[in-house]
Amino acid sequence: MSTKEMYMGREPPVKKVLFWCDRCNVPLIGQKCGCGAEGKKISLLQPYEVRPALKGDMDLITRLVHEQFGTVPLPRIMLLNKTGGVDRADLVIAHGGRFGWLTFDPVNRRFTFDIAPEALPYILDHASKGIVDLDSVAAPGEVRGRIGGKKFTLTVNVPEGTVIVKYRNRYGTGTVKEGQIRVKEVVTVETRRPANPDWNVAIRKNQTQLKNLEQEAIRTIRRHMNDRPTANISFSGGKDSTAALHLARKAGIETAFFIDTGIEIQETLDFVASRPGVEIIEKGGDFWQAVEKTGPPGKDNRWCCKLLKLQPLKLYLAGVGPCVTVQGNRWYESWNRASLEETSQNPANPLQLNVSPIRAWRALEVFLYLWWQKVEINPLYDMGLERIGCFLCPSMLESEYELLRETHPDMVARWDAFLEKWAERKGLPDEYCRWGLWRWRALPPKMREVCRDRGIAFNDDYSVRATQERVVRPVEVVRGEAAPGPAIEEAGFPVERIRRDFPILGDLVYLDNAATSFSPEAVVEAMVEFEHRYRANVGRGVHRLTQIASQRYWHAHEKVAAFIGGKDGVTVFTKNTTEAVNMVAQGLSWKPGDRVVTTILEHHSNLLPWTHLKEQGVEVVVIPVRPDFSLDLDAFREAVEAAPPRLVAVTHASNVLGTVTPVEEIARICHEHGSLLLVDGAQSVPHMPVDVARIGCDVFCFSGHKMLGPTGTGVLWMKEPILEPTMLGGGMVEAVTADGFTPAEGYQQYEAGTPNIGGGIGLGAAVGYLEKIGMEEVRQYEEELTSRLIDGLKGIEGVHVYAAEDPAARIGVVSFTIDGLHPHEVAQRLDEGAEIMVRSGHHCCMPLMEHLGLPEGTVRASLALYTTRQEVDLLVASVAEICRGL
Ligand code: PMP
Repeated sequence: MSTKEMYMGREPPVKKVLFWCDRCNVPLIGQKCGCGAEGKKISLLQPYEVRPALKGDMDLITRLVHEQFGTVPLPRIMLLNKTGGVDRADLVIAHGGRFGWLTFDPVNRRFTFDIAPEALPYILDHASKGIVDLDSVAAPGEVRGRIGGKKFTLTVNVPEGTVIVKYRNRYGTGTVKEGQIRVKEVVTVETRRPANPDWNVAIRKNQTQLKNLEQEAIRTIRRHMNDRPTANISFSGGKDSTAALHLARKAGIETAFFIDTGIEIQETLDFVASRPGVEIIEKGGDFWQAVEKTGPPGKDNRWCCKLLKLQPLKLYLAGVGPCVTVQGNRWYESWNRASLEETSQNPANPLQLNVSPIRAWRALEVFLYLWWQKVEINPLYDMGLERIGCFLCPSMLESEYELLRETHPDMVARWDAFLEKWAERKGLPDEYCRWGLWRWRALPPKMREVCRDRGIAFNDDYSVRATQERVVRPVEVVRGEAAPGPAIEEAGFPVERIRRDFPILGDLVYLDNAATSFSPEAVVEAMVEFEHRYRANVGRGVHRLTQIASQRYWHAHEKVAAFIGGKDGVTVFTKNTTEAVNMVAQGLSWKPGDRVVTTILEHHSNLLPWTHLKEQGVEVVVIPVRPDFSLDLDAFREAVEAAPPRLVAVTHASNVLGTVTPVEEIARICHEHGSLLLVDGAQSVPHMPVDVARIGCDVFCFSGHKMLGPTGTGVLWMKEPILEPTMLGGGMVEAVTADGFTPAEGYQQYEAGTPNIGGGIGLGAAVGYLEKIGMEEVRQYEEELTSRLIDGLKGIEGVHVYAAEDPAARIGVVSFTIDGLHPHEVAQRLDEGAEIMVRSGHHCCMPLMEHLGLPEGTVRASLALYTTRQEVDLLVASVAEICRGL
């Protein structure tokens, strides 16, 4: 049930009137004025929010009134009562009554001030224009009898808009439109020149009430500040939280935090920085990257808050623990907040109990209080903004965005450029950007009406309808000022810049990299370039395209070989690790009694091809791990010494435990005993420098798709071409006779048929990308993240972590379980509750799971070079949350 429905027939306990002291000519927040007089009631319009007109508002109203009526003096105290409209629609209150309406039309991008008849006594004496004398401008004979509510045809040209209407010695207001004037009412007006106090007078006259408000708010905070072990203040830089900060500090709470979303207006950042003792929390993600993929946020689609605010809040709270947070939320801000209680449990985070001490204040009380207390206020309010926050917040009014166009042109230009590009990509009409229609995923009734009136079509789901062909373009990579491409220039690892090369990351927290990784734009571009420019088969012709394709495909092999220090061997492209291992198992000739030694750490892909050989009489020995999850090297040595195996097949790094095996030592033992060594590098190559020559293995297999390359790519490297080709056909032969063939040299003999050419070239680009960053740097960075993750998880009660102790002997693959929860359940909760993607189950390592006594498997988080510290912390915080909820 929506909050609105909840209140159908039962309105929240809001004040619907404003009191006014006629004697002092000031608004009152209570019923009684400081002068002793009783205030008179002024009815307010829903949502009954009322606030002082600030400098920007005053300047705007003054400009509009002067344009219409000449230099009319305006009262120093004016109030704005926000009302529902297409965009900005404020009832302007002055001198204890209605003074006019200030509106903004998002279509013609204009502000309008419509004078109220009640304002006439104060301006008639001064108005030098904008007065229409009915006797002289209406068609002869038309003005007869009752005038109010009637329309008259004008005989002279009068600019459209609200005018003062004069008829004999009576006055009223009227609206001119399309050569006609509609008169509201004409009455005898007595001009008035009342006292013109300023806001200081209003503060003095409201002092008793302000004191009461303060005391009550401080009492509220004190009542709850010890409900949890610690208390803090949520500060946004806006007026409400400025008041909350001030009150909470008076109540004795010092700690305050501000979440920097990365799309704040500079004035807010400066303002926050000038507040002592406010901790600034880093944003949760990069808005500019996420928006390229996700599209503009909407009032009804606030993905940005989740990414930029809720995630960092969760991290902050995870560090703070259970706490009371004082916030400045108020009933009058929106219907959603009208039900706000004194305290409320944050639904998204059980750690936080929110206290809202000013929930019953209107903006009027907030400003009066801050002025009374001489508390500095964010300067953006005086510039005409009403809502402080992200500069492109969909909840902002178009009128505010229009003001920003003048005050912050660079920011607006960046967002406008994005919107235009997005509209082009989706084939949406210009109005999508120009009128601010992007602010809704589904247009609300008022905007549907605007669109209907002006011929802008929308779909059944009320989204704006595309009018042109969509321009199919890949998601654009945000190469901001600081994203020229990967390179270690900064002191730390340039993860932020790296992330910008991965458009898919957007708002995702992807921790399933051991299964497959994402590809950077350089890889995608290389593949697209192949498709767009030189797609042709390889090694089969002389025309120019086949020459280019063959050369690039060959060069990709060279790059991959160099990347693993394997230039002297044969580098074969396969579709994955699995295919590479199978090619070895099937390409060697086996005889009964041959032995294969492998380990319990192996992925099914490096186990089944060997156990399958048992059918041919091959003996398969499986080496266990020690209790610290390291490979039992003694058992290995014994097994090899007992009877030298034909082949040893061992993983370089476990895809479950992250354990890195001592492959160099294993290679030494193998060679002492004349055994071939196959290393499965699926999990090592993406995360550490690998040098097959240094390792001393005979065969090295790995997957391209786990190391930023395309799916469907993998590598089989051999020191010597020891295998018989298992796949026969085109492309792998030098010469063919009627009854035989001579295989081609090098990798070709193992790549029969047309290979995955674009994929292979993409894999070459992935290698280039990783080389630019540097595998040693990747290794160091991931090692630090891995320790952070393991330590974080180990600190949570009920969590068991299965990882090697030595940071140098493990990669960023971390398995864990939670007591009482199936791993799939944990993975699902992490996805649904925190949008974190991890793997769960046996990870294609059933024998290992059995060995560990974990028949249901584990939850596995696996990192990549684009994983951030915040993501690791978010996972730890989310796991802790799941455990607390058990
Ligand atoms: N070996 C290991 C260690 C792995 O982690 C994986 C993939 N999880 C494989 C082999 C199989 O890789 P692919 O699916 O690319 O063949």
